[in-house]
Amino acid sequence: MTSAAGVVVVGGGQAGFSVVSALRGAGYDGPVTVFADEPHLPYQRPPLSKKAHTEPDGVRVDLVPESFYRERDIELRLGEGVTALDTARRTVVAGTGARLPYEHLVLATGARNRPLPVPGAELTGVHALRSLDDALAVGRALATARDVVVVGGGFIGLELAQVAAARGAHVTVVELADRLLSRAVSPQLQEHLRDRHERSGVRVLTGTAVQAIEGSQGRVRQVVTDVGALPADLVVYGIGAVPRDELARDACLAVDDGVIVDEQLRSVSDPWISAVGDCARHPHPHADGLVRLESVQNATDQGALVGRRIAGASAPYASLPWFWSDQGDIKLQIAGLRAPSDTVRLVAGDSAERLAAYAFRDDRLVAVETLNWAAEHLAARRLLERDTPVRAADLAGSTLGALARARRNAEVRA
Ligand code: ADP
Repeated sequence: MTSAAGVVVVGGGQAGFSVVSALRGAGYDGPVTVFADEPHLPYQRPPLSKKAHTEPDGVRVDLVPESFYRERDIELRLGEGVTALDTARRTVVAGTGARLPYEHLVLATGARNRPLPVPGAELTGVHALRSLDDALAVGRALATARDVVVVGGGFIGLELAQVAAARGAHVTVVELADRLLSRAVSPQLQEHLRDRHERSGVRVLTGTAVQAIEGSQGRVRQVVTDVGALPADLVVYGIGAVPRDELARDACLAVDDGVIVDEQLRSVSDPWISAVGDCARHPHPHADGLVRLESVQNATDQGALVGRRIAGASAPYASLPWFWSDQGDIKLQIAGLRAPSDTVRLVAGDSAERLAAYAFRDDRLVAVETLNWAAEHLAARRLLERDTPVRAADLAGSTLGALARARRNAEVRA
């Protein structure tokens, strides 16, 4: 290995992977090293709370095989976390004591689950769900679980609730807020989602606080809430995540619920350091102020942008944000960024299962949430990526799919 300083990436998730694959894809030929504290090859996280547990082959989630890294001379230091940054010497310090100099450093450290702040959260049978190891443990527990309590009615909680119900368990979702998915989707869609979950047999308790988890002989037995006790032999919680930004904070870089970066995803405090994915707080043309996004799209596109920039091609980050969540038979897709003050119009599709919520700001379409309507989601992405606005009147009696086709035909004719 050459001793020249190259690119060091901290974090071996979707964003870190995207950085290194874009670097080599764009012809960067310096040293590339990835520090990843987990012992596994970089893997996809989305399946861990979705179908992985009901597939016959179980959880198989590597992004690419080990040969991908070997063939591209990408050094993976698995199971080796970085514990400090020496920005003056442009060097990272690993937990093993090893030091490695960098020319460019990319923080792709992701987020960690908010811990469940109640007594009993440490009992056997109580699980968070973020890492592959978490998912393997939950998968083993699901094989025998009868009564499953899911704490948190966000993406992860609702996905896992459907997985557990599909495996025959009695499932109760306990959500502190008055509605499910209050962070992610419009109030108009929240009620429909609740209804669909309840129709599939999942019990939903909103506005309900978990007070304690109780067990016997170290194993979970019940979840005590402010409306009574729920029997449980498995508890899974997904109550949000916080960015892993402490390396940056300890190195005195600007941090505020995420590493603050500019439109090129460079730390505003140090031009040799970038941050991508869940740990980055960044400007975005679709957002009012800085945003931090937790999504595969954001991790992939930001990683690719930084990889290409370091290899010589720079551009501001402007990818349209999009998200998805598979909750049993419910496929929720979101394109764009909705703000609470936007006006939302709910429209049923041509079948009972299809639904779209269109969010307008100053009579301009800014975000679209769809249930089981992939074509409308894709049309929304196409239209929101363009500069020509979609007005409420453009949509009267029509769908975005039809509008996108009409606009494309008009362009072809022009
Ligand atoms: P995740 O990615 O973990 O699913 P989300 O932010 O999508 O994160 O959802 C987390 C959900 O957990 C939110 O609906 C939030 O209201 C809920 N929540 C937060 N704290 C608690 C708690 N102590 N008990 C139950 N639900 C909670």
